[in-house]
Amino acid sequence: MPKQKGLLNLKKKLIKRREELLKMISSSKEKERNISEVDRGDDVDRATTSENREMVFIISSREREELKNIEQALLKIDNGTYGICDGCEKKISKKRLEILPFTHYCSDCQSEIEGDLK
Ligand SMILES: [Zn+2]
Repeated sequence: MPKQKGLLNLKKKLIKRREELLKMISSSKEKERNISEVDRGDDVDRATTSENREMVFIISSREREELKNIEQALLKIDNGTYGICDGCEKKISKKRLEILPFTHYCSDCQSEIEGDLK
């Protein structure tokens, strides 16, 4: 089935991206450790290092978020529920998934949810 093949490619892509993210996360942890080690200077130094630490934290939390999305998508692929809307259980359009590979909703449900927020 061609559809299955598409999913297999996506799965490969996701697994590759997961590896990249894991590497990035572990290297940002490394940086965090280095920052802690130099955090013994005067007040000026301390201000800079806490800024750096914040930056590292922001980067890694974004990566962790993406990693979480990837894990969920991989799980869905394995369960055969990938690309199915969490709201109406209909298939999410291929085009939408290409743009938003981690979306949980079809465009109808998404606009309904966003409409509720207004
Ligand atoms: Zn839906």
